Amino acid sequence: MTTDRFYVTTPIYYVNAPPHSGHAYTTIVADAVSRYHRLAGRQVYFLTGTDEHGDKIARAAAAAGETPQAYADRISDLFRQAWQRLDLGFDQFIRTTEPRHARVVQAILQKIYDAGDIYFGEYGGYYCVGCERFYTEKEMVDGKCPDHQTPLEFVKEQNYFFRMGKYQDWLIRHIQEHPDFIRPERYRNEALGFLRDPLEDLCISRPRARLAWGIPLPFDDRYVTYVWFDALINYVSALGYPDGELYRTFWPVAQHLIGKDILKPHGIYWPTMLHAAGIPPYQHLNVHGYWLVDEAKMSKSRGRTLKPLDLAEKYGPDALRYFVLREMVFGLDANFSEVALVGRLNANLANDLGNLLQRTLTMAERFLGGSVPSVGDPASDGDRALRQAAEGLGPRIAEAMETFAFHRALEAIWELLGAGNRYIDEQRPWELARQDRSAVGRVLAHLWEALRLVGLHVSPFMPATADRIWRQLGIAMPISEARLAAQGRWGAAAGPHTAAKGDPLFPRVDLTLEEAPTPSAPAAAAAGPAGEVPEATLDDFRRLDLRVAKVLEARAVPSSKKLVQLTIDTGTDRRTIVAGILLEYQPAELVGKHIVVVANLKPSKLMGVESRGMLLAATDSDGRVILVTPERPAAPGARVK
Ligand SMILES: [Zn+2]
Repeated sequence: MTTDRFYVTTPIYYVNAPPHSGHAYTTIVADAVSRYHRLAGRQVYFLTGTDEHGDKIARAAAAAGETPQAYADRISDLFRQAWQRLDLGFDQFIRTTEPRHARVVQAILQKIYDAGDIYFGEYGGYYCVGCERFYTEKEMVDGKCPDHQTPLEFVKEQNYFFRMGKYQDWLIRHIQEHPDFIRPERYRNEALGFLRDPLEDLCISRPRARLAWGIPLPFDDRYVTYVWFDALINYVSALGYPDGELYRTFWPVAQHLIGKDILKPHGIYWPTMLHAAGIPPYQHLNVHGYWLVDEAKMSKSRGRTLKPLDLAEKYGPDALRYFVLREMVFGLDANFSEVALVGRLNANLANDLGNLLQRTLTMAERFLGGSVPSVGDPASDGDRALRQAAEGLGPRIAEAMETFAFHRALEAIWELLGAGNRYIDEQRPWELARQDRSAVGRVLAHLWEALRLVGLHVSPFMPATADRIWRQLGIAMPISEARLAAQGRWGAAAGPHTAAKGDPLFPRVDLTLEEAPTPSAPAAAAAGPAGEVPEATLDDFRRLDLRVAKVLEARAVPSSKKLVQLTIDTGTDRRTIVAGILLEYQPAELVGKHIVVVANLKPSKLMGVESRGMLLAATDSDGRVILVTPERPAAPGARVK
């Protein structure tokens, strides 16, 4: 990133339904990158908003007994409130029903029409009412909509078309000459794949008689513009195209952020539309994968909604933000479950982060009366190692953020936390306190400084948590005002600092399986046919202690519908594990069975019973759990590999 400016957009969300996890993820990513670039000293602009036209909205409004505008107002407001509750600091929220947007849409349509790239013709195609779009014969499945599985209707009508095909060669060249125009690379290849077939012209209108809720074409008011010329243009209308200050400042550095389901309109239609209108293309299209819940993608049209806001309410916005940014490799699909979120919350947030802060501040209180001196020169190998880890963090995060590798940025921060926790264990300040008070001051000053930098670097991802870290450390400056150039250097804040320990950042959560949203852990953490899971190395696999165990006793966990408590022989010990298989297996039939367990899984409590390990099971397509057993009985303790 060489420029001093940064402009990021989310798609504008369609107001036919309230926000779901997919929307939340895209918007969280946009917020995190915005905060990061602001921290790095850049001038940042973050745009989001809502897409409010179309037949679906008109019908939903009629069903709710409202005007389309009143309906759009209401749902659009839900999005705005949701983002505010998730601490998402957008700079502008655009709505396609705003007159300033309609004016820009009409101006761009007129410009392209005058240039001869919009013409009147006849269109026939297979139409899905649910999708509000035509499907080609190649796209439809047995004459049905691939998304809705409803029969498609053949519709013929006169419409306006954009000569998109004319710009095919230009677009192929542009993508080839700008390798990071569409990224990650798999989506660039997918876009080039679309372009291997001749690019057809794009139907851009609908007769007003059939679709009244839209922006009229400036050259024929019997028609309204259909979807793309309305929605996509928000990215420039919001900036005051053609001569607004924001447009001049930010359009040259535009980056779009989308889910992979809208790659084609953003990677193909939009650049050709811009080119035809004489507008330079955006800089980057950043494409992410799906969150998988119950194996299927979360789809607004199929009504699978996970209610991210409920989870944010339950565990705090930062726990949700951390989970999604750490768990998903940008560009690939990832699995979403409450169990996994709570696992990360307990291990990474409560233990690694919360404990380090709590331990440091408790010792500062006990041994130094809460007053931590300025960090001085390192005096031991431990000091030097901690400082080095902290100083290496900035460049590592910068590199990860270049490619939207949030999981790597967070891993780097967590390595510093690990170094901090090891440093305490090695330096043993509670022993130093009895012998050498100045050494305690030195050690706690090193920890204080490392935590200050953790707060600074984690602030784009978890702004409220970062703010609390700094306040507990006794730093008066609001973290939103901090900049890497001024505050990113080791030793940038002169002491003494008056630290004040507060409540734990993240109290540990005991999640009972009953509360879990899916059949999920521990019986069937790997539920169903796998989605796109990132590649694992042999080393990743070897970290798991998979072995055969024999069930010695089994009984139902009291007041639980699903959980059974097993005493197992693992070959080296007897232990208790808890599994959610009671719906499929009677306790009595489990006794004597040979099963496969993950023996080195971190213990967790389920309905008050501690489970030390997890058994392996498959989940059938109808959700039934099936135990994995060795084909012939094997001795307990036999390794599975
Ligand atoms: Zn459909």
